[in-house]
Amino acid sequence: MAFKYIFGPVMSGRLGLSLGLDLLGENICSMDCVYCEVGATTTLTLDRRAWVPARVILDELSRWVAEGGDTEYVTLGGSGEPTLNADMGEVIRGVRRIVPGKPVAVLTNASTLHLPDVRRELCLADVVLPSLDSLVPQEMRRLNRCVAGVDPETVAQGLLAFREEFSGAIFLEVLLAAGYNDSKENLQALQEFVPRLDPDRVDVVTLTRPGTLDAARAVDESTMARWREALHAHQPHAAHAEARVRQLPPEQAADAVRSSLARRPQTVLQLAGGIGLAPERVREALERLERENALVTREGEGGPYYSVRR
Ligand code: SF4
Repeated sequence: MAFKYIFGPVMSGRLGLSLGLDLLGENICSMDCVYCEVGATTTLTLDRRAWVPARVILDELSRWVAEGGDTEYVTLGGSGEPTLNADMGEVIRGVRRIVPGKPVAVLTNASTLHLPDVRRELCLADVVLPSLDSLVPQEMRRLNRCVAGVDPETVAQGLLAFREEFSGAIFLEVLLAAGYNDSKENLQALQEFVPRLDPDRVDVVTLTRPGTLDAARAVDESTMARWREALHAHQPHAAHAEARVRQLPPEQAADAVRSSLARRPQTVLQLAGGIGLAPERVREALERLERENALVTREGEGGPYYSVRR
């Protein structure tokens, strides 16, 4: 049965096998980042609402479990900023009931952490993965294209307040885009800020897929190495990408590929790692979608990227 607000499980580089819950259903976000993989933000807002009510998401999750689904993590994220869903706390409590014993992670752009309610709800999670790309105001404006009211100072203060209140793990992510936020000024500001935040882990990453703007480019290897060293960042490895090759009938494999591509553009290998299918099966599924004229192909770093025609 098809799911609207559940995706995966996908192999996440930072967490392992993770089932995603989409708390927005549409591109609703407080930012409109030039590198965003889910596409341009359609509703740029800081408004907290039950954009998708908790019961709708939890009903889907119960069905998924009843159909034999299993995962290592449950991650709240989706096609926008999950903390904008005012039902987030209820969703986390429901996940704990429906899939007990599985850690709950939340992805966030940290723009709402200055709000006490958001921090209180986030404290129900096990792992919070905030992103903070730049502490330089003009860089954040140009790269993250935030809604009015979001600036580096608000985000930094929100993060520090959250660190005080949260006993779980914080995995901070810094995404570098060449010419946008790879400046000396930003590196210095982050080098001062990160020890104050004291995250459990820092991930420095760069663009691996086409973003909203074609002008957004990955930084080179030496820049990545320099930043990782300066911020004492985690060194990525490929261990999570191994194993778990599933056998699915061709039609189900095509459905899994279609549903994964509806989230973000991916290469064959990213699809294979994410869905847990052998690359040959992914290629067969892509051919099937191609015959249905449902596929869009775009060249990017690391090979052709596929997405579904809308
Ligand atoms: S914060 Fe995340 S979801 Fe929002 S625009 Fe940026 S990358 Fe996309």
